[in-house]
Amino acid sequence: MSLSDEHRMLQELVAKFVDNELMPLEKGVLAREQQGQPINLTPDEEEPLLAKCRELGLWALDAPEEFGGADLPAVALVAVNEELGRTVVPFTFPPDSPNLHMLKAVANEMQRKRYLEPYAAGTAKSAIAISEPGAGGDPAGMMTRARKDGDHWVINGRKIWISRVAHADFTIVMALTDPEKRARGGITAFIVEKGTPGFIIEREIPMLGGHRTYEVVFDDCRVPEEQVLGPVGQGFGPMQLRLTVRRLQIGSWCVGIARRALAMMCAHAMERVTFGVRLSDRQAIQWWIADAATKIHACRLMVYDAAEKQDRGEDIRTEASMIKVFATEMATEIVDNAMQTFGAMGVTKEMPLQLFAQRLRVMRVYEGPTEVHRMVIARRTLANA
Ligand SMILES: Cc1cc2nc3c(=O)[nH]c(=O)nc-3n(C[C@H](O)[C@H](O)[C@H](O)COP(=O)(O)OP(=O)(O)OC[C@H]3O[C@@H](n4cnc5c(N)ncnc54)[C@H](O)[C@@H]3O)c2cc1C
Repeated sequence: MSLSDEHRMLQELVAKFVDNELMPLEKGVLAREQQGQPINLTPDEEEPLLAKCRELGLWALDAPEEFGGADLPAVALVAVNEELGRTVVPFTFPPDSPNLHMLKAVANEMQRKRYLEPYAAGTAKSAIAISEPGAGGDPAGMMTRARKDGDHWVINGRKIWISRVAHADFTIVMALTDPEKRARGGITAFIVEKGTPGFIIEREIPMLGGHRTYEVVFDDCRVPEEQVLGPVGQGFGPMQLRLTVRRLQIGSWCVGIARRALAMMCAHAMERVTFGVRLSDRQAIQWWIADAATKIHACRLMVYDAAEKQDRGEDIRTEASMIKVFATEMATEIVDNAMQTFGAMGVTKEMPLQLFAQRLRVMRVYEGPTEVHRMVIARRTLANA
């Protein structure tokens, strides 16, 4: 695996942005988390960051060129997300990639103008509502129904654990349009705009790692026909594409998190002396360091391999599942060993390690729980045996 000069320079630019602009904000993020507040950046913190991104060209990196984007391949984004993963400051260069790719794949002309264009420009925010109280890891079991009524669709049901929906200008909502067919031709994607009557954000749910999700109710929510995203009944495929994009992003973030934890572990181990010997001279600690360096290398190769295949147009659903499992477990182990190396200091709320640990804990559930991915990998492996 080797990045082109252009993509290597982009990675260096992002690394500098992370070190110079994001790292100084960590203290404030950690302080908010300590107080049980949302860890999101405040407008005072976010506005200068966004201005800096525009100045540096760190904007619309994978958005289509027709909307002013750089349309970069997945491999370039791996390097970008690895660098962003090194900090607990919650920040991505606008726009967030997964919905962008879903819209790019299936939006019609009207939807490209009305939703994709402002989204690609970073002026509109979006969310996706798939999970329900009775169907999360197995979204094909969803109960939210959409029925045709003249030139509108009427959505009824309940969604839960929906990120960002309270601040989204539009939400992509997955609903059953044919309960017999379900995932095989019976699930449709709809674009629902903020403030649509019958689209009710019922409650905010605080989660580990400073995340906030929401429970949302659809009560006779009427959506015009032209807001069906992609063909009726064919929502599952583009939704999977979107999930794959996020899974590669998660893999890259995990490499970044693990790199930071390893760097912290090494720095402390070389300094701290116990029983007259530096921690870095103890085999127990050396093995944590050796295993961390090895697994980070392996995970990075996995993510680049999948990204290259995706750029060639190959189906990488199995690779994405493998990455989701391996990356989150790898980074969980490395962050935990780093916390242990620091002793009491490692488990303070003043250190970023505990926030990384919380964030990784949540990552093992969202975008498909680890066990569901293992089931999928085993199924496909057995089918090819
Ligand atoms: C922070 C966060 C943000 C989220 N954001 C969104 C969002 O924006 N939009 C959205 O639609 N959803 C979102 N989700 C929901 C997320 O996708 C679901 O929580 C996830 O898919 C799991 O569904 P569930 O919680 O219903 O767990 P379930 O499906 O009930 O599974 C519970 C547990 O059962 C086990 N399990 C399930 N199936 C199997 C199996 N086949 N084999 C073995 N074990 C199994 C696993 O251990 C699993 O963790 C978010 C979740 C979190 C935590």
